[in-house]
Amino acid sequence: MTTFKNFIAGQWVEPTTGDYFDDINPADTRDVVGKFPKSGKADVQRAVESAKKGFALWKRTPAPARGDILRKVGDLLVARKEEIATLMTREMGKPLAETRGDVQEGIDTAYYAAVEGRRMFGHTVPSELRNKWAMSFRRPIGVAGLITPFNFPLAIPTWKMFPALACGNAVIFKPAEDVPHTGHVLVEILLEAGLPPEVIQLVHGFGETVGAAIVEHPDVPVISFTGSTETGSKVGAECGRMHKRLSLEMGGKNAMIVLDDADLDLAMDGLLWGAFGTTGQRCTATSRLIVQKGVHDTLLDRLGARVAKLKLGDGRKQGTDVGPLIHAQSREKVERYVGIGKKEGASLVAGGDRATGKELDHGYFFQPTIFTGVKAGSRLEQEEIFGPLLSVIRVADADEAFTVNNDVKYGLSSSLYTRDVNLAFRALNELDNGITYVNAPTIGAEAHLPFGGVKQTGNGHREGGWEVYEFYSETKVGYVDYSGMLQRAQIDNY
Ligand code: NAD
Repeated sequence: MTTFKNFIAGQWVEPTTGDYFDDINPADTRDVVGKFPKSGKADVQRAVESAKKGFALWKRTPAPARGDILRKVGDLLVARKEEIATLMTREMGKPLAETRGDVQEGIDTAYYAAVEGRRMFGHTVPSELRNKWAMSFRRPIGVAGLITPFNFPLAIPTWKMFPALACGNAVIFKPAEDVPHTGHVLVEILLEAGLPPEVIQLVHGFGETVGAAIVEHPDVPVISFTGSTETGSKVGAECGRMHKRLSLEMGGKNAMIVLDDADLDLAMDGLLWGAFGTTGQRCTATSRLIVQKGVHDTLLDRLGARVAKLKLGDGRKQGTDVGPLIHAQSREKVERYVGIGKKEGASLVAGGDRATGKELDHGYFFQPTIFTGVKAGSRLEQEEIFGPLLSVIRVADADEAFTVNNDVKYGLSSSLYTRDVNLAFRALNELDNGITYVNAPTIGAEAHLPFGGVKQTGNGHREGGWEVYEFYSETKVGYVDYSGMLQRAQIDNY
């Protein structure tokens, strides 16, 4: 079995702790992908020292040259797409079509970042005084600590890393402990593309030690975290205390609204993909179906038939629709919520149990599960479960649907199926989410648009698109007075 290393101070090195953890295939727990460093605080300390040197060098590299390296990263991802998709499926379970999509998102993000290296615009603004120029431009900030979750092992790190690098920052990357192999390959590719070694540090390990040490380190002024709202709160508290720049992307409880005038076949396809794709382990997964009473029964009849046909198994095998959950605790969490749903009086109409038999016995599989008659305000309807469990809420009309959609603490994505164009535009304004899809499922973000949520899903920043470049750079303003005399702003005007 391969034993992997950290990448610190320009070298692949063993952790100072001498400890390792196993990276396990969740579809078959007998299959161990490799051993990865269970690093400690001292490893983070070394990584920060090195990243500071990397930053001193990288911030002086012209932004277009930084972009050129990211273009090469994109090319290498293209060349290794199939290999990365396969190893990603092995370590986290989602089917190959989805892991290929995950790599593609990294490729799109790399090419976007490459161009952004030539477009890091500032503003030139007229001064209120004569013979004076006023302008703003973007500066890199320093060492960025990037902490990422398991469900998009390549895409989410690239959403953070590529803009951070394009802007001229150095990076310390801590991948989720469930997906260290994909993180390892991503760093290999950055180095192969020509990134100066000290600009990137990879420190494997657990959140409470390595993640926390990065967050607490005084020389890491930028933290970008994606993960659960619970962990995000801890990270946020520490960053607030230390006045750090922080981007949080956290939990969701996303709803698809299907109204009486919807195209039901279209809604059905979107629902299966939204609710059970990635085994429901997407921040944008459809975990609530809010359906108008006129189509409620028809939609559910059809849904039951389609769900029964979903094939569970190893995501590397052709024909697999749904993979396993990521680990035993996630499956136990879904089981707990099945119990909560029953207690709350909702009706279990599909699934509800572990999926077993043959190869499924060796992985963390769970049947695609549907509860109907779920009450707005119940725990099943309000709390993030992060598994293949769909709660169905019946409503009288669009107004009630919008209220139910908005009445949760999260606000990542929502989706509306209707043929009423006026209502579609109203929904864009009235649904309290960072993203609303019309006649498409709650998942499907594109790399060149801003991504993020409102309320307890985020803290006001966005990943993706142009907005993330603001997060990874500081605005500097310059005034050049060439009048040759003292001109006092607000006093000597006009
Ligand atoms: P998690 O919160 O358990 O872990 C996320 C990362 O934080 C991991 O790398 C982990 O090691 C690290 N971590 C854990 N404790 C830490 C601490 N005390 N200090 C610093 N870092 C720490 O999340 P997960 O189970 O990997 O991912 C699932 C969650 O992520 C879900 O809630 C999901 O909604 C959310 N998510 C959100 C988005 C989004 O963009 N909004 C995207 C994907 C996933």
